[in-house]
Amino acid sequence: MNNFHVIGILGGGQLAQMLALDGFPLGFRFVFFDPTADACAGLVGDLMVADYDDEGALEKFAKQCDFVTYDFENVPVKAAEFVAQNTSIFPHPNVLEIAQDRLKEKVLFREQLNLPVGDFYSVDSYSELVFAVKSCDNDGFLKTRRMGYDGKGQHRITNETDLKKLWEEIDGGSFILEQAVHFNREVSVILARNASGDILCYELCENKHKQGMLTTTLVPATPSKHSDTAFDYAKKIANELSYVGVLAVEMFETNDGLFINEMAPRVHNSGHWSIEGAVTSQFENHLRAGMGLPLGSTEMSKGYSAMINWIGEIPSVSLTSKEKDVYWHIYGKQNRKGRKVGHSTVVADNAQELHTKVVKLAKLLGA
Ligand code: AMP
Repeated sequence: MNNFHVIGILGGGQLAQMLALDGFPLGFRFVFFDPTADACAGLVGDLMVADYDDEGALEKFAKQCDFVTYDFENVPVKAAEFVAQNTSIFPHPNVLEIAQDRLKEKVLFREQLNLPVGDFYSVDSYSELVFAVKSCDNDGFLKTRRMGYDGKGQHRITNETDLKKLWEEIDGGSFILEQAVHFNREVSVILARNASGDILCYELCENKHKQGMLTTTLVPATPSKHSDTAFDYAKKIANELSYVGVLAVEMFETNDGLFINEMAPRVHNSGHWSIEGAVTSQFENHLRAGMGLPLGSTEMSKGYSAMINWIGEIPSVSLTSKEKDVYWHIYGKQNRKGRKVGHSTVVADNAQELHTKVVKLAKLLGA
């Protein structure tokens, strides 16, 4: 008889890969379900290649797993619900359904939870677009309601935007127009919650984006008068959803306080630093929550940490030297413009040391 647990992951990207790498030493084994044969998680566990509407394959997958979780939030809800008939799955498919739709997500935050979000408008027609843009003083972001990530499916709207042309180009669909939030910085809360309702939060993360994509995370974010509120908001969301697992909540910090941008019902890119930078990584805590085990400490291991994403390609000098406190994660994906192919983590005892190490790394790599 096997003395290990089998965990299934819908989606086989780098998040699934890192869940497996952190779960393996705990005695967990992994099977990934993904429609693409070269999904990078397949490098570290069994990969079932099938479409998300293949119920025969989903049943076979689910029946071998103690529980199932997700690598990304755009897994079709129907597939998650089908899996739920065959084994336990977390977070609940209802959470996926909300997180997949920017409008539903914003309604949850504002109407149900009374949390601050920037103004937003549902846009399903050209006349609704014109009305929404006017209401936002020509200063907003038009986003597809579904399937947008890493800045994809987004259009910056300004006084200069030719709305007629844009509407023709995007050729219909369901959108949300968000008022542009003029933030001082972007932060995220990464928390782990188990079925008993215990919640542990990692230190607040400060995130830098370029063209909608995360490039760098610094932890802990320099404290501000809004830091405590960020944790309160994220916990409120997790409790409302009876959430199990790791949840990420991204926020904009302005002079007038915090505005919630979006949530990710999964381990998150801005939590990758926790592999070396925290006592328990976000990946281990996600699995612990799913297994019903006590959550591990989310304290920093060294005090300070930073994560730099490698987008498009891994720098050629990556493995030619081994710097103390600098770690490489190369996902084994094909290079492609705009694709996250790896990241580096730096840990340090204090902010100055972190700064010095990050600048050195960035210079070395010409970043
Ligand atoms: P998203 O995919 O919605 O997280 O957007 C990616 C990035 O685009 C965010 O992290 C921000 O840097 C920027 N962005 C998106 N929406 C807004 C907004 N309403 N106001 C200001 N910046 C935004």
